[in-house]
Amino acid sequence: MRVLITGGAGFIGSHLSEAYLARGDSVFVLDDLSTGSIDNIRHLKTNPRFHYTIESVHHKSVVAELVDQCDVVFHLAAAVGVKLIVDSPVRTIETNVHGTEVVLAQANKKKKKVLIASTSEVYGLSTQVPFRENGNLVMGATTKGRWSYACSKAIDEFLALAYWREKKLPTVVVRLFNTVGPRQTGQYGMVVPTFVKQALLGLPITVYGDGTQSRCFAYVGDVVRALVALMDHPDAVGQVFNIGSNEEVNIKTLAERVKAMTESKSEIVLVPYSEAYEEGFEDMPRRVPDISKVSALVGFRPSLTLDQILAQVIAFFRDEASPSINPENG
Ligand code: UDP
Repeated sequence: MRVLITGGAGFIGSHLSEAYLARGDSVFVLDDLSTGSIDNIRHLKTNPRFHYTIESVHHKSVVAELVDQCDVVFHLAAAVGVKLIVDSPVRTIETNVHGTEVVLAQANKKKKKVLIASTSEVYGLSTQVPFRENGNLVMGATTKGRWSYACSKAIDEFLALAYWREKKLPTVVVRLFNTVGPRQTGQYGMVVPTFVKQALLGLPITVYGDGTQSRCFAYVGDVVRALVALMDHPDAVGQVFNIGSNEEVNIKTLAERVKAMTESKSEIVLVPYSEAYEEGFEDMPRRVPDISKVSALVGFRPSLTLDQILAQVIAFFRDEASPSINPENG
């Protein structure tokens, strides 16, 4: 199979590329390296079945050409990371909405199956935990920049589902819940790599708010397996699936675990949301997926515990990170 992965030089996209190459398929990556990085795919470049194009998903003719060459499309290219979104809302909205429009329109011309990556962020302020795919999405005020991410992704979902209903373009929507693992960078605000780096460098571990907010962290290898299985399954078409782990942890406990596992002397500090993001910032207090739908269809089950995932991320930063973290790798 020939697989197009937009955002393929990103954290999840690079792991997905690996999975398809390992299966014997060919991979075509389209990435503008805005948040992705060539470092994520450097090790794949020697594989003759791996191809990449450095260009934006806004570029219609490039997308059209790649769609023509491929059998299926994963659309992962997006503005991600709450910090990036709060700092660059225009880019977030334009990338997420327009990029998806282009990909779906081009895929529709040749009726190539498309999987659209959405986010657990779309559940917004809903308190119906665990979140189910058919539950209400509760958006905050438009004056709060964060919710532009959720809204832009919700539009992507509507559009993908509309293409299926109206034009019979086979589409699948997945909502990813806090995917973590090796190669994720803390640069765009993600908490696990941020805490691990802080702990390894002996810097203060910055818990935002009071640290009682909770998340469920999914291992990227598990998430990738679910993506591949959903792409393969004919009954996934026209549907929305949560993908994530259901091991819930609050952020203060996460900080303590990272500190203990790295044997760090870092102190854990509380940082008000107004300082971390912006005045009036609203967080999601709990974010837990109901994963029964994806489990029932493709047998998805998280394979690693949080501690096992953290051990992998810690090992990654110890091995790969800058000389300031591991002088021996200078
Ligand atoms: N967070 C934190 N310290 C950091 C970065 C993030 O306490 O240095 C918190 C953040 O406020 C949120 C949680 O960790 O409550 C998860 O943040 P992340 O940006 O990883 O993902 P989100 O779930 O917000 O999309």
